[in-house]
Amino acid sequence: MLKVGPYELFAIESGRFALDGGAMFGIVPRPLWERPCPPDPQGRIELALRLLLIRGKGRTWLVDTGIGDKFDEKSNSIYRIEGAMLPDEALRRAGFDPADVTDVLLTHLHFDHAGGTTRADGSLVFPRARHYVQRVQWEWAQRPSMKDRGSYRPEDFRVLAGQVTLLEGRGDLAPGIEVLPVDGHTPAMQLPLIRGDGKAVFYCADLVPTAAHARAPWIMAYDNEPMKTAAEKVELLGRAAAEGWILFLEHDARYAGIRVRRGAKDFEMMEGVAF
Ligand SMILES: [Zn+2]
Repeated sequence: MLKVGPYELFAIESGRFALDGGAMFGIVPRPLWERPCPPDPQGRIELALRLLLIRGKGRTWLVDTGIGDKFDEKSNSIYRIEGAMLPDEALRRAGFDPADVTDVLLTHLHFDHAGGTTRADGSLVFPRARHYVQRVQWEWAQRPSMKDRGSYRPEDFRVLAGQVTLLEGRGDLAPGIEVLPVDGHTPAMQLPLIRGDGKAVFYCADLVPTAAHARAPWIMAYDNEPMKTAAEKVELLGRAAAEGWILFLEHDARYAGIRVRRGAKDFEMMEGVAF
């Protein structure tokens, strides 16, 4: 647990999967990325599905819902999905009551972030919670680009139509919880920044999916607009380094949190931070 102002933050593991290492690192040559992220015989690297639980001020927030359990054998073997569970089960295993969740913040609607929003029968996992998505991301998900079409499964979020809270850009969700939308990975992926008592935790989602991505040009080939991602990383990693933010990593197989610094040529990881 990490305390930030009035909030208690917990990292919740909801399983593991694996994606092609080359796609995860874009233009970075394999001899550079295979050291921090050793690939399996199919060239895939191990990724976490790590959610963030925020408790405080009378509310309980869950950031992202994991990959869920709507996969057939074929996808299971393509993505090497291991031990994946719905977020209510992940919370129970971590000692929490899923009925306490009042708010679900979805960074974006790709299946490895919003897949655990619904059950296989299409019903919501947290029917009483308020769900938040950026309006631009919601609209994009109805008509994605050719590039990220494969990352959306309408059954993950269709049921939210008419009851989702659509957010317009940057803003405060609660005292000390601000969302910062970025557009390079997919339009309006919203990243929560939790601040209090001189501390800050920034949930990076797919802007900095693993610790190895804490360098400006280490950008996933999946991104719709990699140059936008580069500019967003320079800005946000710059703030993280200058202000000592803890970066919360959704997909890193090893670190839930890291701190970064500005090196001679680029940003670099400084230390791991446990939750
Ligand atoms: Zn992702």
